[in-house]
Amino acid sequence: MAAPLPIEDARRVVLEALEPLDSESVGIRHARGRVLAEAVVSAVDVPHFASSAMDGFAVPPGQRGALRIVGESSAGHPFSGRVQAGTAVRISTGAVVPEGTGAVVMVERTEEADGMVTVAEIDTGTNIRGAGEDIRRGQTVLEAGEELGAAALGVAASVGRGHLACARLPRVALLATGDELVAPGAQLGPGQIHSSNTPALTALVEGSGGRAVVGEDVPDTAAGTRAALAQAVEQADVVCVTGGVSVGPHDHVKGAFAELGIEERFWRVALKPGKPTWFGVRSGGGRRVACFGLPGNPVSAVVTFILFVRPALRALQGADPSATRVRAELTEAVPRMADRTQALRCRLQAAPGGWRVTPTGPQGSHQLTSMLGAGALAIVGPGEGEVGPGQAVEAELLD
Ligand code: AMP
Ligand code: MG
Repeated sequence: MAAPLPIEDARRVVLEALEPLDSESVGIRHARGRVLAEAVVSAVDVPHFASSAMDGFAVPPGQRGALRIVGESSAGHPFSGRVQAGTAVRISTGAVVPEGTGAVVMVERTEEADGMVTVAEIDTGTNIRGAGEDIRRGQTVLEAGEELGAAALGVAASVGRGHLACARLPRVALLATGDELVAPGAQLGPGQIHSSNTPALTALVEGSGGRAVVGEDVPDTAAGTRAALAQAVEQADVVCVTGGVSVGPHDHVKGAFAELGIEERFWRVALKPGKPTWFGVRSGGGRRVACFGLPGNPVSAVVTFILFVRPALRALQGADPSATRVRAELTEAVPRMADRTQALRCRLQAAPGGWRVTPTGPQGSHQLTSMLGAGALAIVGPGEGEVGPGQAVEAELLD
C-alpha cells in the first residue's frame, strides 16, 4: 500500500483535479459572500461631477465681501445657469458646483442678511470634490476572484452595477455512513449514537460558500452505499461522505466509488487527525465531480474538510484557496510526530506581534468539544523534538 500522502501534496492533488464552475448574474443585494467572476471596470467617473464637500456658498474665483445670493444648488437639484462676479449660490454637500464658481465657502464662515452673503476670499478649488477623484472612467475597481463584502459591493454599486457575474455556488452532497447513526433529536437504542457529522459539515459548507445537499444517513451495506453515492454524484459538484472509508468489513465507501467509476487520486494522508481520507474524481462522462471519503470520527471529519474540501470549494469559485491561512505563534510546546502532520485545534488570539494559537485541550479525534472555542487549526509538521513555545507555525482560520 502506498505511504500516506503529505498534506500539502494531497491539497495540491485536490486543487489540480478541479475545473472552475461557470458563472451566473447575481443581483447586488444578494451577492454578499459570493466570488466575483469578472473584473469590474467603471464606465463612469466617481464622483460623476465636481461636487461640494460642504454646506455653504459656491462663489466665483477670487471673490470676497458681500455677494448677492442668486439661487441654490442642492443634492440632486443643480443650479442652472452661470454664476457671475459679485454673486453666489447656496450649495449643499454633494450638490453640483455651478458653472462660473471656483470654490465653496463653508456656511460657518459666512454671514447672511437681506439676500446677501459676506465671505472672505478663499483659494480656488477649496471644498470641491473633483470629478473622478475616487474612481476614473475605465479604471478596474474589482478583480475576478474577489470575495464580495461590504466595501466591494459598495464600490460596485457606486459605479452603477446592479448585477455582477459571480461563480455559481458549488453544490455539495453530504452523506454520513454508519448503522449506528441516529438523527439528533431521536432516541438512542443500544449501540447507537447521534450523527453529528452532517450538521457540522453543513455549517462548514455554508461557511465556505457552498450549497449543502444533505442526504439520508447511509447504512453499512455495499448496495446501500453505492445507491446513495450514485445519487450524490449525479446531484452535486462535490461529494463528501463521512465514515465507512477504512478497510474494515463494514466499510463500503471506497468500493462503491470504484464501482461508480470514480477514479482514486489518493488514499490516506500523513495527518493526525484525519489519516483515512480518500479523494477521487469523476472525470469521464460529463460533469466533473470531486469526491471525498472523509473519516467518520467527528473531529477528523471537520479537520479534513477544512484542509481539503474548503480549499476545493474556494478554488471552484475562483477564490484564493490560501486566503484562510496565516502565520501564528504557538504559545505552548507541542511534540512533533515522526511521520504525520498534526492539525491542532487552537484558540486564536490577536497579539501585538501577530496571531497567537493555544491548543484547546485534549485532542482525541472523537473529542468534538476540542473544537469549541477553536479559532484556528495549527499545522505542526512532522519531525523530531518539539515545536514552540514562541515558534511560528501555519494556521488555518476557522469561523
Ligand atoms: P468509521 O470511519 O465509519 O469507522 O467511523 C469512525 C468513528 O466515527 C466511529 O466511532 C463512528 O461511530 C464515528 N462516526 C461515524 N460517523 C459519524 C457521524 N456521522 N457522527 C458522529 N460520529 C460518527
Ligand atoms: Mg462506520
